[in-house]
Amino acid sequence: MKFPKVRDITLRILESCGIDSPPVGLEPLLDYFNARVVYSQHQPQSALLGSKDGWTIKVNSTFREERQAFRIAHELGHIYWSDPAHHRGDPQLGGRLEHFCSKFASLLLCPHQWLVRDAPEADYDLFALKSIYPNVSHEVLALRLCYLSPLVVAIFDNGKKYRRFASPNLKYPGRETALELKLYEEVDLYGEFRETRGEIKVGGVPRSARVRGYPVFSGSFRRIILVMTPAVSSLEESEEFEEDMPYPFPEY
Ligand SMILES: [Zn+2]
Repeated sequence: MKFPKVRDITLRILESCGIDSPPVGLEPLLDYFNARVVYSQHQPQSALLGSKDGWTIKVNSTFREERQAFRIAHELGHIYWSDPAHHRGDPQLGGRLEHFCSKFASLLLCPHQWLVRDAPEADYDLFALKSIYPNVSHEVLALRLCYLSPLVVAIFDNGKKYRRFASPNLKYPGRETALELKLYEEVDLYGEFRETRGEIKVGGVPRSARVRGYPVFSGSFRRIILVMTPAVSSLEESEEFEEDMPYPFPEY
């Protein structure tokens, strides 16, 4: 028995809710799944409770809006797969349900079929895409872009590196290059978007690269995201988001 890809499941759900362009509002989706949301500061992340009257999603009230939206969409994935008709006999679901629900959340709030159109139009610019998908975090957007274009992403939180990742199968410097670090300092100093071009070395081979630096500040929390585009040929056609999704998927 063959099951549809998550990207097709989520797009069909959005169509059923009459949502055909971003941003993806949660209200019609909650109605579709007969679910309501309860915010609580005591909820570690999110939880799903079922009753004869419908579903209740509990979510941490202190999370930022994008993270709350992601958790709610994740729990909607649990509701979807709680229906045995949606997974009976699927050997892949089993212990990977959490992984699938996070993939479901990402693809529900930012459908693949829309992003493949919007990302090139926005020149893969994080801020431009964030304005189109306001309830999707910059981090999730950056991760998703790695599956559409050859990119290297570095995220720093309050001056400390949080994570570094890149497009699948892309050869890239494992540590931040001088080009990236210089741009990081400028973004940190001025608190503004900055862009630069220069040369990096990949496996001893010089390559030109563009780096864009995005300040994502919220109160005293200072996140800076560097997105580097090395000059390489485009990604292989076969590298598909759904097959190569890294685990664990970020929670927001
Ligand atoms: Zn879950």
